[in-house]
Amino acid sequence: MDYDYDLIVIGAGPGGSMAAKTAAEEGLDVLLIEKRQEIGAPVRCAEGVSREALEEFFEIEKSWIAREVVGAVIYGPDGSSIKMAARMAGNEVGFVLERKIFDRALARMAAKAGAEVVVKTTATSMKRINDGIEVELKRMGESYKLRTKLVIGADGIESRVGKWAGIDTTLKIGEIESCIQYLMAGIDFDPDYTHFWLGNCYAPGGYIWLFPKGDGVANVGIGVLPTKTREGPKHHLDAFIKERYPDGEIIEIVAGGVPVSGGLESAVADNVMLVGDAARHADPMTGGGIANAIKGGYFAGKVAKEAVEAENFSREFLKRYDELWKGDFGETLRKNKIIQKKILKMDDETLAKLIRSVSGYDLEQISLRRLMIELIKKNPRILWDLRDLFM
Ligand SMILES: Cc1cc2nc3c(=O)[nH]c(=O)nc-3n(C[C@H](O)[C@H](O)[C@H](O)COP(=O)(O)OP(=O)(O)OC[C@H]3O[C@@H](n4cnc5c(N)ncnc54)[C@H](O)[C@@H]3O)c2cc1C
Repeated sequence: MDYDYDLIVIGAGPGGSMAAKTAAEEGLDVLLIEKRQEIGAPVRCAEGVSREALEEFFEIEKSWIAREVVGAVIYGPDGSSIKMAARMAGNEVGFVLERKIFDRALARMAAKAGAEVVVKTTATSMKRINDGIEVELKRMGESYKLRTKLVIGADGIESRVGKWAGIDTTLKIGEIESCIQYLMAGIDFDPDYTHFWLGNCYAPGGYIWLFPKGDGVANVGIGVLPTKTREGPKHHLDAFIKERYPDGEIIEIVAGGVPVSGGLESAVADNVMLVGDAARHADPMTGGGIANAIKGGYFAGKVAKEAVEAENFSREFLKRYDELWKGDFGETLRKNKIIQKKILKMDDETLAKLIRSVSGYDLEQISLRRLMIELIKKNPRILWDLRDLFM
């Protein structure tokens, strides 16, 4: 059979661009398509990512970074707080990106590596033909079909590629954080830290964040679980802003969902791999998904090369991709899903007690794992069932 491409990547977020870049560098004939007319815009993200997550794959460019922070401050429902150093605080703390620039830079890297990049083009369906896949695309009202050996679905939370391939990507209502965020100007905060407010009084089933972007400018947003509140996220965020930043100006609004199911059991089917939010790879505890989308894209791009070399596009062969992401961040997804479920059951008093119990610690030095062990030791009645995850 004649193929137009070795690989078509659907969606040019961080996951798709990384997959296209990696596969093109490996010599595959790659097409990267994006339905929006501009890669990276509109932004649906708080833009936080750790230095390590980027350094692992890229020479970091200054223009990607709006602000570098030294750590995170976490506020409990009673006002008590803890401060953590960036390297201890996980995948979302370190840099606040300009995703409009960053996402485009990744797509440019894919193009430089040899991938063909096409915007304003939507994948509308696909079907298996012989050993390959026929993808139907729509570009400015015109439909056309292309044949490929492999498809990487990097089409985000609203992914349809998985469903087309027969992978069950269904999210229950309690597995989607419903988010809204304002880019605010003229507000007062410590710009060296990202700030998180926890508790049902602020954000039922989620948290409020403030990620500094510049002088008096920050992404201020919220994620809530629809199973935990009858009000939408805007109601809760507006109440918070009215109290804390009544004089701030809102200069941009974004809304979106984050999958917090904790990852698919398997992200592959015959001829198809899913990466990033499409594979539900966002962290269920923090909602952060940039780092895992980049890693997943890298692994999928490498496995695409192996599959083309072996001329084997079967699900069995592509399970190599499942092994790679599971061996890297799969265990963290699993653990953090357990912790998220535990936190969801806590009332605000219990949460406040936990935060108070470690508020005197030097969290510049202590790792997240060590912090969890201390929390369990200090609060055995509340956290004893988590001991096997950390001790
Ligand atoms: C409000 C909010 C705040 C967030 N804050 C953070 C944060 O601070 N840090 C963090 O790490 N994560 C954050 N996230 C999550 C993060 O944005 C995602 O996990 C990340 O963007 C996932 O990358 P991706 O490449 O998988 O998908 P996306 O970035 O969603 O990209 C998917 C792309 O596919 C395109 N697409 C979809 N369907 C088609 C189709 N049929 N044909 C062609 N193209 C298609 C879309 O237009 C889109 O460009 C946040 C999410 C939200 C909603």
